[in-house]
Order: sequence, then C-alpha cells, then structure tokens
Amino acid sequence: MHIDAKVLNLKLTTPFRISSHGAKYTAPSVIVQITHNEFIGYGEAAPYYGETAETVLACLALFTSSLGDDPFLIEDILQRLGKIIEFNPAAKAAVDMALYDLMGKILGVPLYRLLGLNAMRTPCTSFTISLDTPAEMARKALLAKDYPILKIKVGTDNDIEILKAIREVSSATLRVDANAGWTAKEAIRNINAFEPYNIELVEQPVPSDDLAGLKLVRDNVSLPIFADESCVTLHDVARISDCVDGVNLKLMKSEGISNVLKMIHVARAHHLRVMLGCMIESSLAITAAAHLTPLVDYADLDGNLLIDDDPYEGVKVEQGKLILPQGAGLGVKESTRVMTSGSP
Ligand code: MG
Repeated sequence: MHIDAKVLNLKLTTPFRISSHGAKYTAPSVIVQITHNEFIGYGEAAPYYGETAETVLACLALFTSSLGDDPFLIEDILQRLGKIIEFNPAAKAAVDMALYDLMGKILGVPLYRLLGLNAMRTPCTSFTISLDTPAEMARKALLAKDYPILKIKVGTDNDIEILKAIREVSSATLRVDANAGWTAKEAIRNINAFEPYNIELVEQPVPSDDLAGLKLVRDNVSLPIFADESCVTLHDVARISDCVDGVNLKLMKSEGISNVLKMIHVARAHHLRVMLGCMIESSLAITAAAHLTPLVDYADLDGNLLIDDDPYEGVKVEQGKLILPQGAGLGVKESTRVMTSGSP
C-alpha cells in the first residue's frame, strides 16, 4: 500500500471564534489516499492543537514504508505508526480512516455495516454558534432554525447575556461549550445562573489539566458536565471518569476510528455518556465520524456545515438527523457543487 496526500484550505462560512483561540477564517485539511491494488481509500486530517498541515505531511512521509500490504491488519499497522512517532493524532486519524474506507470498499459494504451498527440509530447533530456579541450570536441562532440542537460557544465576560439573547429567539435544545474558558468558581456561578435558559449540558468548563476543578464544578451544579479538551487519550477516559458525566470524543483528537471505538467502550464501562464531535473538517472526515454515531448519545458533527467550499459529499443532515450514505467504505464522493482536483 502507498500513501498520497494533498493540502486543502477550507474556507469558513463566517469567522469561527472560541474562548481559547482567536478568529479563524480558513481551516487547513490534509486529504490522504492509500492505494491497495485497484482500490483507493480516502482519509482526512484536520490538524489538532499543535499539528499543522506540514507536520501531518511529515508524519505521512514517515508512515509510508510501515503500512505493509494488508489493510485488514489495521491494529498491527496502527501499533507500528504509534512506535514511529508519539501524538500527531490527526495524521494518524487520516491513515486509520483511509484504511477503513479501503476495507469497506474491498468488502463492498458501508463502514457502519463493517462495524455492525444500525444506520437508523444515528442521533441528531448540534449546530455550533461561535463566539460573537450576544446580538450577533442570537442572529446566527435564528438563521440556524433548521437545527433542533445548538451548541453555544461561551467563556466570555457576558455569557449570561449571550444565553438570554439566544433564548429570546430560539426554542432549540441548547448545549454550552466554554472551551476551558472559566475558572472552577466562575463555572459554578455561570452554570447555576444558566438555570432559567434550559440548557442540556455544559462542555469543558475549566482548563484541560484542572481535573480537581472539573470535579468541583460537577459536584456543585445540576447540569451534566462533559469533558472535551481534558479527554484526549484512552487513558484519559478512565482518569477523568469521576470528574464528569460524559465525554466529547473526536477522530482528530484521538487518532481516528479504531481508538475512538475503544474510548467509547471504556467510557461506557465507566457509566459515562458519549458525544462524538469534530473539528472544522470536510464531509470526508465528518462522514467517517457519522458512521460511528449509532454507538453514541450525542453528535456534534457540523464541521462540514461551517465551510463554504466542501469538496466532498457523504452524510446528510435532515432536521438535524444524520443520514448515513449507502456506498461502500465511507460512502463519500466528490461534491457536485465544487470542482476540485482529485476525488474519492
Ligand atoms: Mg468542545
């Protein structure tokens, strides 16, 4: 098997802001293809914190001689990649995804069937409202009226005003993500003040390494607390299980489908609820994640809905519900809306 890759710069529909980072206008993405006989498997890396398109390409160059010649030996292959270089989770996720696409195409079955999952059991995805003024966020919430669930980014000095403004225009289910933007004390005060706005859950209230803070928040509020930035590795799931009610898992953060499947099962063993989330990604990686959603309680797979020039088509969203494609492997094809070079 051999790897080819190309870099895309996905253009965001509107600037994307969260509390731990500045505004983004484009998002890099590395499209990976692994060729095996007459089959080609496609994967995507949306660089995770610390990674760039360049580090992903450098990893792929290191991986190419270690793929071997049998995509069905994916556990062996991923173990070898882990020995070549630590971390670099999105680079590894792209290879893992392309191997699953290959396996599905060789067998002629969609990924969800390869995994033994029921496509009817996908949840609804949330749609993200990124940070802005309360009035602007309310305007965006109004525009997103087709989505029954909104994820509201907070972690500012006027979080209560943001939720008040959005609740005035929207009756959607609201999830709140502070992206590590509060201290534990601020989190407890803010979350308790959210009471009138009917919030479903709160994600990553405090910095990722503040597990004591996470537990303090969880013990002093009534809303469910989910970990995102605090839950990156398989070991993290067990480590944080007493501090939260649930975890938000992402292919890019946690090295792809194989490892995220393990994390889902470890989370269940610890009685945690599970959300499957994403970065800014094209429909290629979003569709890969969507195939796993029959296993989870919540989906936040809207990265492809936040870009203008999605080069691929795969999973669809109807009134929020994720509709899986029926093609073999990931079931992703080149978008008919945008002309690009190279396609699955
Ligand atoms: Mg999050």
